[in-house]
Amino acid sequence: MSPNPQNHCQYLQKLSEKKAEYIKFEGDEKITWCNGCGDYGIQKALERALVLENLTTRDVALFFDIGCNGNGSDKIGGYTFHGLHGRVISAAAGACLANPNIKVIAAGGDGGTFSEGINHLVHGVRNNYPMVFILHNNENYGLTIGQASALTRRDQPMNGSPDGVVTDPMNACEFVLGLKPTFVARTFSGDIRHMTQMLQLALRHNGFAFVEVMQLCPTFNKATSTAWFEERMRYLQNLPDYDVADLHAARRAAEDLENEIMMGLLYQDKTRPNFIEMLPSRAERKTTLIEEVDYQDIGEFMEELR
Ligand code: SF4
Repeated sequence: MSPNPQNHCQYLQKLSEKKAEYIKFEGDEKITWCNGCGDYGIQKALERALVLENLTTRDVALFFDIGCNGNGSDKIGGYTFHGLHGRVISAAAGACLANPNIKVIAAGGDGGTFSEGINHLVHGVRNNYPMVFILHNNENYGLTIGQASALTRRDQPMNGSPDGVVTDPMNACEFVLGLKPTFVARTFSGDIRHMTQMLQLALRHNGFAFVEVMQLCPTFNKATSTAWFEERMRYLQNLPDYDVADLHAARRAAEDLENEIMMGLLYQDKTRPNFIEMLPSRAERKTTLIEEVDYQDIGEFMEELR
């Protein structure tokens, strides 16, 4: 993107004002991603978005799926959970329901999310759970050394399909837009500032915020490099007439993954309540489920069983 220099200075100034909180999010575990991996940028953008939204490590619960992205789970501050492959949305949804006062963020790769976990994605979007979901779309199963996922481009030779992938890839945003979502954005792992902006918007959204990050994987995804993306990316913010509330326009914008790839906030519906707000059983409650947990002594009953 071509940042407005004045806005860019304000962005850097705000980050430096919040340096102490930012350092707490950074963590001190050894990084194990390959050189040039897009996961570095995604983690930085997430840390920046959290501090710019005035969230501290005590305000967030971060859920990580299995995969290269999941190796970030011990490299960031906050309450973190490393789940089973493809199941991260269901674990994160449980946290949303138990304690709506924390900000829940989940992350998963294209492999787990669009194969094993696609059912969880569908119902996460449909139920409009109040959470942010970050799709790390590196177009392959990186952690298991480069097999094709449902999002790998056609004809790409991959480990496990050396003659090339014979099917067309799914389009992540197009798929989610078919589920009547309330928030869909697309961004790129090589543009930390744009990712930060998209994640800030997602953190402010009331409902399921789906953010696709088109991620560089220089080790196994040879089809799409930084130069490849830079040639093709187009930013929606440069289209003054684009209406983020128009679902049909969003579907048209999302469909091209080859020539002009649209980046930015594709769609947002601010009118729909989130899942918890729709539950009649929670309507009059001032407490959260986690505050309502009651410990009972069952020793007497256990004695009867002896
Ligand atoms: Fe990153 Fe790809 Fe290496 Fe995984 S295999 S750490 S996604 S570059």
